[in-house]
Amino acid sequence: MKRKKVIIVGSGPASYTAAIYAARANLEPLIFEGFYSGPVGGQLMTTTDVENYPGFPDGIGGPEMMVLFRKQAEKFGTSFIVEDVTRVDLKQYPFLVESASETFFADALIIATGAQAKRLDVPGTRDNEFWQKGVTSCAVCDGAAPLFRDKPLYVIGGGDTAVEEATFLTKFGSKVFIVHRRDELRASKIMAQRALSHPKIEILWNSVVERVEGDTVVRSITIKNVVTGAVTTSPAGGLFFAIGHEPNTAFLGGQIELEPNKYIKVVKGTSLTSVEGVFAAGDVQDHNYRQAVTAAGSGCMAALDAERWLSARENVIA
Ligand code: NAP
Repeated sequence: MKRKKVIIVGSGPASYTAAIYAARANLEPLIFEGFYSGPVGGQLMTTTDVENYPGFPDGIGGPEMMVLFRKQAEKFGTSFIVEDVTRVDLKQYPFLVESASETFFADALIIATGAQAKRLDVPGTRDNEFWQKGVTSCAVCDGAAPLFRDKPLYVIGGGDTAVEEATFLTKFGSKVFIVHRRDELRASKIMAQRALSHPKIEILWNSVVERVEGDTVVRSITIKNVVTGAVTTSPAGGLFFAIGHEPNTAFLGGQIELEPNKYIKVVKGTSLTSVEGVFAAGDVQDHNYRQAVTAAGSGCMAALDAERWLSARENVIA
């Protein structure tokens, strides 16, 4: 039986920080970093410059930052498996953790599986239509592809992600349109100003995408103005969803209590979940802040909570 004191599920600032703390407490953590569920290292792997993580006054690339986090976790004795956890059984103890090719048992479990970009069910954007043929939810991952070059590109959303993706896409598209359902951006002031003043970005206010059409790839987009009711079809080379995220909690099979929005419910100010010995960190339990620095902080909390819980348990058993 392969048994670990601490298993961490997911990769990203929360996971690697939890591993650094757990490893330094001699808990020899194992991280299941994921595979099909998203890039190893999490959402920062699809970000350009991170300018708001303290300690990097000149900014740092998201992927570069995650390589450093991982290296630090490795240095203190973390082990890694690049697979998705497909099933956990939290009714048995130690907890069962299964991936495609591995079965482990964990004395304590830290869930740090993050969240992933949401999509809308717009005609033409579905998996068997133009999804990944001009429609995607990650400009930074896909934007440099030849099919987007010198074409009008569209980003749905009004938050920081929409602005960040649109700004990134200006390097490739002939023009970038942000399609926003309201008349005011949700993005932070500094980001909103970037979009409003960028010569290649135009914001289509009060607008929703009705459909995309094409042949082998996206060629046109139909947009409705929800105030005037006007419907316009225009040439388009790509459509990017930037409408927020949903947490990766499906693999838990309902064994942990979730918030109504499906994020893991934790005891306020801690990483404690509804199951004793299971802790949550990072975006999977935080729909509010969702920053690298807050994720890292919560990873630290989860490792400390796990360590304390394990030693309290050992004392009871001894
Ligand atoms: P967000 O702030 O939740 O914004 C989502 C946007 O999508 C909103 O404008 C929302 O419209 C729109 N939207 C949601 N559902 C929609 C639907 N069904 N149809 C049409 N539009 C829809 O998400 P985010 O932009 O991904 O940002 C998440 C967090 O990450 C934020 O805290 C943000 O500050 C942070 N972030 C920071 C940076 C950075 O600092 N570099 C970059 C990216 C993200 P409404 O406004 O009408 O609700």
